[in-house]
Amino acid sequence: MSRIYNFSAGPAMLPVEVLQEAADEMLDYRGCGMSVMEMSHRSKVYETIIQEAQADLRTLLGIPDNYKVLFLQGGASTQFAMIPMNFMKNRKAGYVVTGQWAKKAFAEAKIFGEAVELASSADKTFSYIPDCSDLPITDDMDYVYICENNTIYGTKFKTLPNTKGKNLIADVSSCFLSEPIDVTKYAMLYAGAQKNVGPAGVTICIIREDLITEDVLPQTPTMLRYKIHADNGSMYNTPPAYAIYICGKVFKWLLKTGGLEKRKEVNEEKAKILYDFLDSSELFKGTVEPASRSLMNVPFVTGDSELDAKFIAESKAAGFENLKGHRTVGGMRASIYNAMPVEGVKALVEFMKKFEAENKHA
Ligand SMILES: *Cc1c(COP(=O)(O)O)cnc(C)c1O
Repeated sequence: MSRIYNFSAGPAMLPVEVLQEAADEMLDYRGCGMSVMEMSHRSKVYETIIQEAQADLRTLLGIPDNYKVLFLQGGASTQFAMIPMNFMKNRKAGYVVTGQWAKKAFAEAKIFGEAVELASSADKTFSYIPDCSDLPITDDMDYVYICENNTIYGTKFKTLPNTKGKNLIADVSSCFLSEPIDVTKYAMLYAGAQKNVGPAGVTICIIREDLITEDVLPQTPTMLRYKIHADNGSMYNTPPAYAIYICGKVFKWLLKTGGLEKRKEVNEEKAKILYDFLDSSELFKGTVEPASRSLMNVPFVTGDSELDAKFIAESKAAGFENLKGHRTVGGMRASIYNAMPVEGVKALVEFMKKFEAENKHA
């Protein structure tokens, strides 16, 4: 067996231990005589799987009792609509637009009410996080929305916005469980699993209880009401059962390997190796303002699109997969989520050094 280093932004690498355990349990889950894929989500066995996943996630993140954890479907993108449908009671909310995903959420909110752009970094191709210390938030806004880590552009909020007492809602899809956070700073945070915690198909929403009410916008479909899912323990209908099972294994792996403090340490180490190289390189350069750099997604360019293409082709041949930048920005991007080992980043930097030596004077 040979596993390559996969720098995909998502679906992305998962810990080998998790995949191995899932493989071992594939045909016969702990004496049940069937796979988790084949079992009723209402069975005792599955109930234990989903309950343990939730309990382990609560431990990892230190989620207070007054927050609900929901395992939903429809990807992170469905949240772009669910959030305004459930929370835009005054039909007005503020959005900080720092990239493609924030832009999409902002556009979706406009379907339901007045979405106000509080700040944006579109003027410099989303290469920085705007100052959010004094946003034009008004009293009638229902919430303030951010995308905390911008997967495509490689920026991350280092401090949360001053929301002036308004509820903060954050899309944390690409930085979820990459470091410890204070959940109480958020009214809601959510993440599509396929970036940092599991397979595609499940979106994890963590919502302060008092926000989950029946008072939603008229004509909100049943499946798009948080209260329905909260009241039914994420089992109103069939949940993405197998995806939740794998996420549960990832949570256990995180707990076993030192929790989120340790993850932060390792993720900072990995990011430093790559950013230090980019800062010293004469060929490659990072595209993000140093103060806004993401720990998870690292975009870079050579400044020459032909050389970028050559690098992508040669790196792929050398066993470094998915380094091509997002189709909307070009260049390269290395996503170095939790499951990417330090050795993977070191090997990439060695490869980049070699490529630089060979191509510097081309
Ligand atoms: C990938 C991504 C999304 C979209 O996720 P889907 O599950 O494909 O809908 C939304 N937000 C962020 C930050 C992402 O990285």
